[in-house]
Amino acid sequence: MTELRTLKVALLGCGNVGAQVARILLDDADMLASRSGARLELVGIAVRNTDTPRDVELPRELFTTDAGALVKDADLVIELMGGIEPARSLILAAMRNGACVVTGNKALVAKDGPTLHEEADKAGVQLSYEAAVAGAIPILRPIRDSLSGDRITRVLGIVNGTTNFILDQMDSTGAQFADALAEAQRLGYAEADPTADVEGHDAASKAAILASLSFHTRFSLDDVYCEGISSVTAADIAAAKDAGFVIKLLAIAEKLTAAGGETGTETDAAGTTGVSVRVHPTLLPREHPLAAVRGAFNAVFIEAENAGELMFYGQGAGGKPTASAVMGDLVSAARSIVLGGPGRAETTTGKVSALPITAAATSYYIGLDVADQPGVLAKIARLFADHGVSIEIMRQTTHRDADSNIESAELRIVTHRASEAALAATVEAAKGLDVINSVTSVLRVEGV
Ligand code: NAP
Repeated sequence: MTELRTLKVALLGCGNVGAQVARILLDDADMLASRSGARLELVGIAVRNTDTPRDVELPRELFTTDAGALVKDADLVIELMGGIEPARSLILAAMRNGACVVTGNKALVAKDGPTLHEEADKAGVQLSYEAAVAGAIPILRPIRDSLSGDRITRVLGIVNGTTNFILDQMDSTGAQFADALAEAQRLGYAEADPTADVEGHDAASKAAILASLSFHTRFSLDDVYCEGISSVTAADIAAAKDAGFVIKLLAIAEKLTAAGGETGTETDAAGTTGVSVRVHPTLLPREHPLAAVRGAFNAVFIEAENAGELMFYGQGAGGKPTASAVMGDLVSAARSIVLGGPGRAETTTGKVSALPITAAATSYYIGLDVADQPGVLAKIARLFADHGVSIEIMRQTTHRDADSNIESAELRIVTHRASEAALAATVEAAKGLDVINSVTSVLRVEGV
């Protein structure tokens, strides 16, 4: 048997994910060699503090604080430090030295993907980041490779486990947001500072990456409209439930015409088509496949012209699950070196533009507190019709305030697909209508 060549692997970071990657590299060396066609030798692990106890037992001599020196002499570099710097400079230096890079750093890829890809192309090396979106779930490679002969029209993703856990708690127990968040923190699903998760920033990074690969155009974080879940109330959840919906924080990337309809064309030189990339709380019918995604799990639902509907489901975070995605990228990168080339990475021939949120088209759920008197429904229906928003479902419940004895009614409306601009104008006009006391909620609906 011919002797396998050895590839030097440098690991940057040994936290939740990095420690598991190091363990797999050491424990499963023979398996990895047979899968990749080369022996993968872990030559060093860069950390901030070499004395910090690690989740797994690893040889002390592998640890260093000099990440810069480590990447200089590696064939493969795995970046699992997180943050923008020094991760960005180290990745660029590694690629300039001819190393293939694997990273799980969604913040960096979403912010500065074009620079990283340009450098990878220039150096002729592979840059991969399967772990950056939805942890263990193989989603980027299927989009990039398996669906490269199809046209993706829409991607809907539950890509943040923390917010899915919180919304699921609110849905199943009736808890308010603050209580569900406290429970998520107690169980370790949410960080002490939960801002990046609950305000949708983490999901927005993943939305930019999903949109870029799905529509063959580089989108950055700036192209993503983002709303988090901190303003979703127990009343919103209860009303949605009552109407047969569940509320999920979705990362959405979909192809639209400038007027708001969908299109089948890949590009439009006249600029009449584009991609809406957005993150916001969304009502989904309870029978939609994504509605069944409970707890901290992730899932990505894809619609493609020929494949139809596809769903990818699994653990979106955690050391071992995320390490699985990293190892897949590493074996693929090692194979590319053994075979003598980086292979085809992402393509950017789509050249579609990112549309503003006002161009998005979806159905809406609107809650209204209205006066309980004759003619109210007709007035409201006319107001919606005047703004070109057609109503699919309208339900009224009445209640009497025990203190004031004033009777009022709550109206719940689900619209047909309408443009965000038309909806915004309708809501604005509704606030001025004499029979409407207040607009209690406005939420977007998908999957109807
Ligand atoms: P983590 O537990 O915070 O670990 C970070 C590691 O990087 C630590 O070992 C730290 O060293 C090291 N490090 C940080 N800054 C450094 C610097 N300037 N120089 C040298 N070493 C440095 O992070 P993680 O949860 O493993 O996440 C790693 C990456 O994977 C992030 O980009 C994250 O977004 C991504 N990711 C994580 C998950 C997940 O479930 N955790 C899922 C998907 C993607 P010390 O240990 O000495 O402090």
